[in-house]
This record gives sequence, C-alpha cells and structure tokens, in this order.
Amino acid sequence: MKKWNLVIDISKCHDCNNCFLSCKDEYFENDFPPYSVAQPRHGHRWMNIMRKERGQYPKVDVAYLPIPCMHCDDAPCVKSAKDGAVYKRKDGIVLIDPEKAKGKKDILSSCPYGAIWWNDEKTLPQKCTFCVHLLEDGWKQPRCVQACPTGALQVLFVEDAQMKKIRESEGLEVYKPEYKTKPRVYYKNLYRYTRCFVAGSVALQDTDECAQGASVTLKKGQRKVIAKAETNNYGDFKIDNLEENSGSYTLEIRYPEYKKQSLSFNLGKSLNLGTIFLSRA
Ligand code: SF4
Ligand code: SF4
Repeated sequence: MKKWNLVIDISKCHDCNNCFLSCKDEYFENDFPPYSVAQPRHGHRWMNIMRKERGQYPKVDVAYLPIPCMHCDDAPCVKSAKDGAVYKRKDGIVLIDPEKAKGKKDILSSCPYGAIWWNDEKTLPQKCTFCVHLLEDGWKQPRCVQACPTGALQVLFVEDAQMKKIRESEGLEVYKPEYKTKPRVYYKNLYRYTRCFVAGSVALQDTDECAQGASVTLKKGQRKVIAKAETNNYGDFKIDNLEENSGSYTLEIRYPEYKKQSLSFNLGKSLNLGTIFLSRA
C-alpha cells in the first residue's frame, strides 16, 4: 500500500518561511472537520524552521532545518493518547482528533520533536496534518510543498519498500534517529545541520600569494586518512561532514617546492584554521 512521505533538502532551504506562511494561510480561521480546527493567529509553527551557524568568520555557513510533525510510524504521541485521541492512518499520516484530544495538554510532552502546539483558546493540542483534507480532495501535495520556491520540500506517495530504496540511493536520513520513532520525514544533506567542517586558507610565505592546488589531507589522530581536498584559486579548502566532538585530527598540506606543513587539533564544532603559511623547501 502506498503511503505519504516528505523529503526535505537542507541545501535548498533558504529560510523564506513560505512553507510556514502557507500553513498559516491554510489553517488560520479555517476548520477542516473531522481532521483539524483552526490554528491560532500567533504562536503555532506547524512547520518550524530551525537555524544553525557553523564556523568562524570568514569561513561561515548557515543551514536551515524545517521541522514539521514527522508522522512517525512508531509515534510516542499515538501511544501516549491511549483512547485514540492521536491516531495513525493507513496512508502513514498521524492526526490529532480535535474532539477526543480536547483538554489533553499532556499530549504535547509525548513528542520528542516538539511538533505539537497548544491552542489556549480551544484547549487543544494541534500539529501538522499533512493537509489531509486537501489530499482527500485530490491534491498531490500539502500547501507547504506547493509554496516552497526552491524545491526543498518534496512529497512521495510510494510503498514502504520503494521508499527504502529511494532512501538508500539518495542517502536520505531521519533527524534524531536516536528517538527511534521511525519518522516518515526524511532529510537530504542533513550534515549541513548536524555535522561540522574544518576549513582554512593556504598561502606562500615568501610571495604572500594564495597556494592554489595545494593538497590537503585530514587524518584521524596521526594515521587514518579521513578525507582529501585541494585548495581553490583563493587557496581555500573546506572538508565537511565530520562528526562534532570527535577528538584529535592532523591536517597535512603539501605543495610542490614548499615544505610539508602539519597541524594537530581537537575537533569540537566547525573550525576555521585561518591562513596557513608554507615556507620554501
Ligand atoms: S513527530 Fe511528534 S507529533 Fe509527529 S508523529 Fe512523531 S511523535 Fe507524534
Ligand atoms: S518554503 Fe522551502 S525554502 Fe522556504 S523556508 Fe520553507 S522549506 Fe525552506
């Protein structure tokens, strides 16, 4: 049986918040019985865009992580609401029943992703519904996906076996797999948010010029080669997708007719090593 999945490409999200706004436009002052009642004007972010800055000036980048309800297959919210106040449909979508869930604020704390919001006026927990009312009207995607100008959001209505293949071939990941909730929301290029880089510039001591084409080798400790890179025409290099707080590394730089340069450092978060000068052999 086909089920709904959402794929979010972190490298394409630029924090325009169109997804958030289209969600607000769809749900503010609009009830969609039996699936949802209106979202309040303020406070709720059913699509919540998180932000992370990495590195130090001038080697800095920023990534944005849109977080909706993950429509988990092993959803703690469904388990905690024992009376069907939160339920999972056969097509994968998780919904909060607006009648059965009334007054049940404790449902909020069951979600490890913080994807459930409390409506004070209606005394109701609420969250993303995957725009199920639109899908049942023949729409092929929720409002947020339609509104995203960069194609960062993509919906897939496929069988689980096919989703598994897509996940493997495209290197998709779930956010916070340690929660073990089996999300149906997958991320591409998640390393831009969850992992770190080491970057720097290489210059020649005697001429003060950029060392274009220098070979950069990153080793774990003194031995194991983790990654290789080459400096660009500004002498810059960047090695990304490294684990934060992963201990000691050595960086080796080689350039014809100049002495090999080695630097050792402990990797906590993303690191700009600054300008590294090479002296003549
Ligand atoms: S993300 Fe949270 S609210 Fe959504 S299904 Fe998973 S546990 Fe439930
Ligand atoms: S609409 Fe697309 S690009 Fe804009 S914040 Fe949402 S996911 Fe990111």
